[in-house]
Amino acid sequence: MNLSQFNIGVSASGIQRSHPGCVRGLEDRAGAVQKSHVGCVALLLLMIISATILPLPTSAASVSSAYGQNAKKIVIPKHAASTLLPVVNQRDILEKHRILADRVLRALPSYCRDHLKNFYVNYEKNPANRGLGGESTMIITGNVPDREFMALVTHECGHVTDLGGLRGRDSAQPTPFADGTTPIYGDDPSMAFYSISWLSPRMMQPNMNDADFVSGYAKSDPFEDFSESFAFYALQKKEFKRLASKNAILKAKYDFMDQVVFGGTEIASSNYKRGKNVPWDVTKLPYVWHAKR
Ligand SMILES: [Zn+2]
Repeated sequence: MNLSQFNIGVSASGIQRSHPGCVRGLEDRAGAVQKSHVGCVALLLLMIISATILPLPTSAASVSSAYGQNAKKIVIPKHAASTLLPVVNQRDILEKHRILADRVLRALPSYCRDHLKNFYVNYEKNPANRGLGGESTMIITGNVPDREFMALVTHECGHVTDLGGLRGRDSAQPTPFADGTTPIYGDDPSMAFYSISWLSPRMMQPNMNDADFVSGYAKSDPFEDFSESFAFYALQKKEFKRLASKNAILKAKYDFMDQVVFGGTEIASSNYKRGKNVPWDVTKLPYVWHAKR
């Protein structure tokens, strides 16, 4: 079932535009290895039942500690609203968030801005999911620091890139890597990434270790593996490259992002270094944004 056929009006939290499409959730599970994929159908039911997008909890403590390491405050330039990408220039989104999202979309490879049709910011307190993303839709919580907001947009752009931008043709054979009920076809460029660590959405390749993933959350399924690796390349490229030099699985993931998706583009930098413990969530790591609007 392709959920893009649905248009659901949501009245709570100021979000009233329709939002077709299937989305994936980025929950706050710092420190806990727990599957946090939100399937399309589950999300749809949630929205129908509660008539509210994402009754989401925030993560203030861990967020402020992670982002407190960044000395530089993000400077938000003043732009005329007319210069913003239309998809983010929506009246129910704070101007600050329109500008930050615009900056991220323009800096990332064009797959995301070319395929994103619906962009929402949820201002509810206590969100359960900080971000949701699918082939053409993303919903981001507005109750996080600016730097985390941009990182969340980056992660969700990974899903838009993966599911909306890099697509196979239905003339090719379906693979075991269905996104919900939407088939992933054999000539989908993302297949080269998924098959590095996965046999199917629920089954990893044999002998995978925690260290073979950029985060704990990346182990949820191949799609989160893609988006977390996408965000890690965008925000922590130097560290991704360093880890890849010592781990063949991470090297394959780095090379895919470098060659197929980013083409070597430099967007951000960081002094973050991974120790023994794999972080749970790429979006909470410190970074400095470089790309200019
Ligand atoms: Zn995700």
